Amino acid sequence: MFIWDSHIHSDISFDGKFSIDEFANKARELGLSGITFTEHYDIYDGMNPHDEKAKPFDKEEYKVKLSKAKETFGDYIKAGVEIGLRPDSKNEISEIAGFFDYDFIIGSSHVVCMKNISHDYSFYSGLTKEQAYEKYLKEVSLNIALCHKDFDVYGHLDYAARYGKYDEPEMECSDTLDSVLRLLIENGKGIEVNTASFRLGLGEPHPNRKILKRYKELGGEIITLGSDAHVPEHLAFSFKEAGEILKDTGFKYYAVYSGRKPEFIKL
Ligand SMILES: [Zn+2]
Ligand SMILES: [Zn+2]
Repeated sequence: MFIWDSHIHSDISFDGKFSIDEFANKARELGLSGITFTEHYDIYDGMNPHDEKAKPFDKEEYKVKLSKAKETFGDYIKAGVEIGLRPDSKNEISEIAGFFDYDFIIGSSHVVCMKNISHDYSFYSGLTKEQAYEKYLKEVSLNIALCHKDFDVYGHLDYAARYGKYDEPEMECSDTLDSVLRLLIENGKGIEVNTASFRLGLGEPHPNRKILKRYKELGGEIITLGSDAHVPEHLAFSFKEAGEILKDTGFKYYAVYSGRKPEFIKL
């Protein structure tokens, strides 16, 4: 079976500790067909100094380390980036997207309304789940409208559900979600199925199966699979479950990007 993990953070990312080689060796040991590195590039200017530690990667260092690893692993590894999208940073985002001949670019919302929503809970305070998710999705729409040339798939589309701490955190389908999905489809963009949620005990991928089903119903076809691994042991984590969910929701293929173009692989 062809298994490709398209969301991995090596020690190029501020929160990664393992080298490109360590990931690639482990991937071979696990029998994967290949892996795509998607290092963090987030912009935290103008925010809480707490976020200063989350520095964007050093572009030159990434280039050097990657070309060295390519000598050993060749096409088994691909080069990508996970850009934290922000409506006010369009120019810097275009610059990072154009810096390198990436195979693949994930656009993600880590910062929403100038708040790092994974730990700045003031984003959610005083809001019902529906209100908080609506606020989140409105900014996702804006990011797609402004930055669609600079990413290929939207990362963990229901990310707010991971950190909102609501009793039943699942994001439901809504008119706002529909408009996000339509905007992605109209612009030829995919969504990723991020399996980190299984490690975190959420029992559903990001995004959840209702959202995947809706994306399919609206005509969406491009899905990538990513573990969001920061340690080699997490490579391709729960890909089997994710594959079953995708098949149940009507998908027959998933995509692997090369030179920012999708190639479709049978599930
Ligand atoms: Zn992310
Ligand atoms: Zn990530």
